[in-house]
Amino acid sequence: MTTALVTGANKGIGLEIVKRLVDQGMTVYLGARDPEKGEKAAADVGARFVQLDVTDPASVQRAAEAIDSLDVLVNNAGIIGGRMNAPGAADVADIREVFETNVFGVITVTEAFLPRLRRSAHGRIVNVSSSVGSLAGMLTDDTPDSLGYRPSKTALNAVTVLYAKAEPGLRINAACPGYCATDLNDNRGYRTPAQGANAAVTLATVADDGPTGGFYDEDGVVAW
Ligand code: NDP
Repeated sequence: MTTALVTGANKGIGLEIVKRLVDQGMTVYLGARDPEKGEKAAADVGARFVQLDVTDPASVQRAAEAIDSLDVLVNNAGIIGGRMNAPGAADVADIREVFETNVFGVITVTEAFLPRLRRSAHGRIVNVSSSVGSLAGMLTDDTPDSLGYRPSKTALNAVTVLYAKAEPGLRINAACPGYCATDLNDNRGYRTPAQGANAAVTLATVADDGPTGGFYDEDGVVAW
């Protein structure tokens, strides 16, 4: 029986990832920082709730103690920040908060669960990133130039590569959901959260000889 944990999964893309993994017969822990929202979402989709605030090391540690064995970790929790943080008008405290969740939170959760993932015969980590973190497009694209959100995903991509290099026995990749209508962007995205789950679910269930250290959307490789 495969066991999975999805962080930040009480709504949005994370909740859709949980549903899909449950449908595949996995035992899925739905991580959420708010117990009320998390309990309800988990009950609705047949998952198990685990309280997990990725910015709170004590909460992460408690979650790791509550989950004995783990095969699939999906680091989905993420925030966009409360400010635009354009170059020249950056709010450093706000940027710190974004990095705290999107980068340091992922490292905290990954470190806590690595010992369990290493014991799995099919250990997988999926980091939910974004193509807006791709350096390839940054100089020329017309995405708002937030010094918080965009570089946080660039850093997350780097973190993904280094974990993949350090853990050759696991499959560790970054997924881009595409622009999906969720609370993160006041529902402005043109894709559904269910479509956004596609890349992460594919990587969560990738074959033992499948790729590691890569960055993918549902159509294939995304440029760094
Ligand atoms: P939502 O805002 O709908 O969901 C974000 C989830 O993360 C919520 O469940 C939220 O919990 C949770 N969360 C935030 N901070 C923490 C924390 N400290 N600890 C635990 N959980 C936390 O956004 P999306 O579903 O859109 O985002 C999911 C991921 O997809 C993010 O990493 C995002 O960057 C990425 N992404 C999204 C895109 C999009 O177009 N929507 C595009 C590219 C990437 P709570 O309800 O308590 O706030």
